[in-house]
Amino acid sequence: MALVNEHFLKLQNSYLFSDIAKKVNSFKITHPKDKIIRMGIGDVTQPLPPAVIEAMHKAVDELATKETFHGYGPEQGYSFLIDAILKNDYASRGVYLEPSEVFVSDGAKSDTGNIGDMLRHDNSIGVTDPVYPVYIDSNVMSGRTGILENGKWSDVVYIPCTEENNFIPSLPDRRVDIIYLCYPNNPTGTTLSKDELKKWVNYALANNAIIMYDSAYEAYIQDTDIPHSIYEIKGAKKVAIEFRSFSKTAGFTGVRCGYTVVPKELNAFTLNGETVQLNKLWNRRQSTKFNGTSYITQRGAEAIYSPEGKKQVKETINYYMTNARIMKEGLRACGLNVYGGTNAPYLWLKTPDRLSSWKFFDKLLYEVNIVGTPGVGFGPSGEGYLRLTAFGDRNDTMEAMDRLKKWLHQ
Ligand SMILES: *Cc1c(COP(=O)(O)O)cnc(C)c1O
Repeated sequence: MALVNEHFLKLQNSYLFSDIAKKVNSFKITHPKDKIIRMGIGDVTQPLPPAVIEAMHKAVDELATKETFHGYGPEQGYSFLIDAILKNDYASRGVYLEPSEVFVSDGAKSDTGNIGDMLRHDNSIGVTDPVYPVYIDSNVMSGRTGILENGKWSDVVYIPCTEENNFIPSLPDRRVDIIYLCYPNNPTGTTLSKDELKKWVNYALANNAIIMYDSAYEAYIQDTDIPHSIYEIKGAKKVAIEFRSFSKTAGFTGVRCGYTVVPKELNAFTLNGETVQLNKLWNRRQSTKFNGTSYITQRGAEAIYSPEGKKQVKETINYYMTNARIMKEGLRACGLNVYGGTNAPYLWLKTPDRLSSWKFFDKLLYEVNIVGTPGVGFGPSGEGYLRLTAFGDRNDTMEAMDRLKKWLHQ
C-alpha cells in the first residue's frame, strides 16, 4: 500500500488569487461598462529585451546543425553564463565567488522551494511577516512547520514587519536555524540597509543558523547604500545562500532562469556536530533531480550582460520604477500612507480608517475600479495593508492615480 506524505495534507489551499478573481468577475458582471485597472499583477508585462531575443534565435539555429547542436548541458549551468554572473553581478561589487559556487536553475521559486531538501526536518524556521508564501509552504511539505493555529504555523517564527517597526524585522527571541529573508521585499517593497543586514549575518554566525536570502528584485535597487548581495556583508559566505532570478530582472517569468549561490564556506552540521559543506550537497541534489536549464534559455540570460542587454534591461526597469514613482506620489497626494516603491516594483499601502485588507480591496474595486492584492493574503502582519504593483501600463497607472485623487477629493 502506497502511503502519502501526509504533510502535504496540512497545506491550506491558497484562495488569495482565486478569491480576487471571483470578486473581480462578479464586479464585471454587474458593471459591464466600467474599466478595471489591475494593479495586483505580480508578473512583468514588458517584452523581453531585444538582445535576449536575438541571442535565443541564434541559439535555436545552433541546435539545427549537427556541428553546433547541444544536448544535455552541465546540471550546474554553462560556464559562459556562470562567468557572466560572477563578473557582472558579483566581482563588480567586490564579491568574489568561484564558478562552482553558482548553480543556474529554472528560477528562484524552485530553488527556494527545494533548498530544504538538504536540511533536517526538525530545524526551526523563521520568516518575516508578511512573506512570499513559497518559503512557508515548502516547509509545510517537509514537516517543519507544526500545526496551523489562528493563521500561524506553530513551529514557524513569524517576525512582524509593519509600519510600527518601519518594516525592519527584529532578531528572533526563539532559536531559529533557518531564516528566510527577501530584499528588496515582496510584498512590502521595503529594503534593509547594510547595517540591518549585518545584524542578521552576525546572528546567523553566532547561532550557526543559515540565511536563505532571496534577492529576486535586486535589479530594482536605486539607492546606492542598499546592499545588492548578502555577500557584501563580511562573514555572509559562512551563513547565507543567495537566490537570484532573471524573471523580474529581465522579463524571464515565462522563459524560466535563475541561479543560486551556495558558497563553499557554508556548512551545516550532523547530529554528532560534524560539519558538512552544503555546496557539495546541493551539487549532488541538483545533479540527481535536475537536468539543467535549456541551452537557449541560458544563451538568452547571458545576453542581458552584454552592453546592449544591460541598457535594455535598465530601460525596462526604469519604466516600471517610473510607474512606481507616479504611484507613490499619487497615493501620497491622496493622503495615504504608502511604503516601498523606491527600490522595488511593489507599493505597500496602509488602508485608511483602519479598514481590513479585504474591505479596502472591495472599496477600491467598487468605487474606483482598481484591483490590488489584500495584504493579509501574505501573512497575519499584512492585515490592514494592500499591495499594488508597478508592472502595469504607464497610461493605466496615471489614470488610476487620477481616479484616486478625484475619489478622495469628492
Ligand atoms: C517573483 C519572485 C521570485 C522569482 O521566481 P522565479 O521562479 O524565478 O520566476 C522569487 N522570489 C520572490 C519573492 C518573487 O516575488
